[in-house]
Amino acid sequence: MTQRNPADPPPPSVVDLRSDTVTHPTAAMYERMRTAPIGDDGLDGDPTVRELEACVAASLGKEAGLFVPSCTMANLLAVLAQTQRSEQVVLESTAHMYTSERGAATFTGLFYQGVSGSAGAMDLNRLEEALLTGGHRLKTSLVAMETSHNNAGGTVLPLDHMQAVHGMAQAAGVPVHLDGARLFNAAVALGVPAADITRHADTVALCLSKGLSAPVGAVLAGSQPVVAKARTLRRMLGGTQRQSGIMAAAGLEGVQHMAARLAEDHVRARRLSDGVNGLAPALSATVPQTNIVQVETAETGMTNAQWVAALQARGVLTRPWGRTRLRCVTHRHIGDQDIDAAIAAFAGVLDAR
Ligand SMILES: *Cc1c(COP(=O)(O)O)cnc(C)c1O
Repeated sequence: MTQRNPADPPPPSVVDLRSDTVTHPTAAMYERMRTAPIGDDGLDGDPTVRELEACVAASLGKEAGLFVPSCTMANLLAVLAQTQRSEQVVLESTAHMYTSERGAATFTGLFYQGVSGSAGAMDLNRLEEALLTGGHRLKTSLVAMETSHNNAGGTVLPLDHMQAVHGMAQAAGVPVHLDGARLFNAAVALGVPAADITRHADTVALCLSKGLSAPVGAVLAGSQPVVAKARTLRRMLGGTQRQSGIMAAAGLEGVQHMAARLAEDHVRARRLSDGVNGLAPALSATVPQTNIVQVETAETGMTNAQWVAALQARGVLTRPWGRTRLRCVTHRHIGDQDIDAAIAAFAGVLDAR
């Protein structure tokens, strides 16, 4: 019996657009995982984890890095390491840290203050208000941004916006965290080195298991003292692992070799968007800046749950996003034929209504 190579993409009958988290490790990742020097990261350190932490810190222009099991934990540690209970974190009100990481927020004893924005960028007037002190206000101890912005459809924050936010926060004596789960998608879309983005933040969370294709993990990067504090907190949360160099090896391969190819995912997302927008006025897709396309189904007379099921019956997996939208994410296992198959599935469901 021949065994399927685990580095191969999933069987071609399914076009899985649910998320870029479904990507499997590459063959090169498996090879590095097999051969990486390892140690005990909870005892005296793991050499491959140290290499990953140093590599990410250097490429993001930060002093130090910390390997953690997930980007959720990286964001949580950034908060815990830089705040005190009864203070507040200010962030755009559709940020992942706000909409999807509330569970983590409940452990912090902090209030998360959402600030309205557009395309993932906070309204600077609202931010100014949130940074005011005195009276009944809570002290703002951290401002967070997100790029590319998941809920805003993979939009990329303009660098001048990031600079303005950082400047306002600095003037108020408040550090800035960047949820850069898809930081390299943003860097590729802007055509700049990642460090040109991360210079507008004091700490950065980078997810290794999305488009970069590593199986698990994230890195928190920042100043030496903040990362040292986060390292202590990581142990308290049970996030310190042992021969984690095996996973860090895949992350290293991702950071060093998988960022440039994200441009292909962006081109295919655009191809999907153009294809869906060409079908019928009832269906409209966002024009993507990166690898996320949201498809609006409100005018089709079908609920998005019906859409998800009907597309699935045609071999295309998507996720409901809010009441009337579907989210489609391109990634390494999605080729041009898969995009064409997805567009055909959308057309088929429309016709069969
Ligand atoms: C996926 C994601 C996270 C969380 O990453 P995990 O590694 O799954 O915990 C955080 N922020 C954003 C913007 C994300 O898209």
